[in-house]
Amino acid sequence: MAGLEAIALGIFRFSCTFFFSSHKRRVLSLYTIFLSSFFAGVTVCVHTSVKSLPVLLLLPMILTPLYRDKLMTALQAVLVVLLYILSNFYFIPNLPFVLPNSSADPYVELSVFIGAALITDILLKRVNAAILLNEERSRHDSLTHLYNHESFYLELEYFRCQFKKRGLPFSVIIADIDDFKKINDTYGHAFGDSVLCRLGELFMDCQSRGAFCARYGGEEFAILLPHGQPLPTAEELRRAFAALAFQTPEGERRFTLSIGAAVYDRDYPSGRAFFERADSALYLAKREGKNRVKLYDASSENEEF
Ligand code: GH3
Ligand code: MG
Ligand code: MG
Repeated sequence: MAGLEAIALGIFRFSCTFFFSSHKRRVLSLYTIFLSSFFAGVTVCVHTSVKSLPVLLLLPMILTPLYRDKLMTALQAVLVVLLYILSNFYFIPNLPFVLPNSSADPYVELSVFIGAALITDILLKRVNAAILLNEERSRHDSLTHLYNHESFYLELEYFRCQFKKRGLPFSVIIADIDDFKKINDTYGHAFGDSVLCRLGELFMDCQSRGAFCARYGGEEFAILLPHGQPLPTAEELRRAFAALAFQTPEGERRFTLSIGAAVYDRDYPSGRAFFERADSALYLAKREGKNRVKLYDASSENEEF
């Protein structure tokens, strides 16, 4: 009995490795529920000498907040009740299906220990996976799935370090949707969100070609490029967005972007100080009539460029 229990837990554990890599959240939750309930049930049944042991059946319920799924929690509760009923049957003497009292089995303690170790291992993996997922989410913007403002500044610091160490120039692009408030006011915020998402997809394409793209805030997006020629990318983005057609009750509409860019080819006191250069180029693009790209001219630091 004890050996069987250990083998069953071992099989569960190793097949869990497959499910951990498959990212099927519900399948993984189901697996954990059955595994932990099975372990608790077997332990309660083999330790007939310890009266308070059925309390162990409640322990798998502690895992349920990790599933973040009401159905899984309900399933776990039903299993706990069923196991409790079954364990009571088990304690009724002289029933034909009752297993022999194996508390005297020297392997019982060992198998319970191994089972506990395997469960702990699975639990830790689940907690770690949840932490990693949360960390990943905290780096991204939930609407466009691009990196967020904080990640942008972390990456900017990384690029600055590379410049200091190896003298590798890089560039930053900041793009802002023109008259976005009017878009929201005319077609609604949900429509405005869909415009942000479509633009986000253009940035994702850019990202797949080696750029680091973030939603800087509101309708502003920022890019870090690992080279000193931001203009072709900026112009390509401006054109691609201007070509997108959006369906509105008044028919197809197209919107535009203003873009500022700056090249980091000398050291700036901080990432923010450098970013302000690109931002000032963006404001120049707005002032000159929007729907255009402007590059910050470092040679005219104190002049209007
Ligand atoms: P400009 O051409 O000068 O950039 O003008 P603008 O209207 O685009 O800029 P403004 O700063 O006046 O308005 C930005 C608007 O963006 C205001 C705000 O309600 C909207 N906004 C910010 N975040 C979101 C969002 O997540 N979803 C939607 N739908 N709107 C947003
Ligand atoms: Mg703006
Ligand atoms: Mg705007």
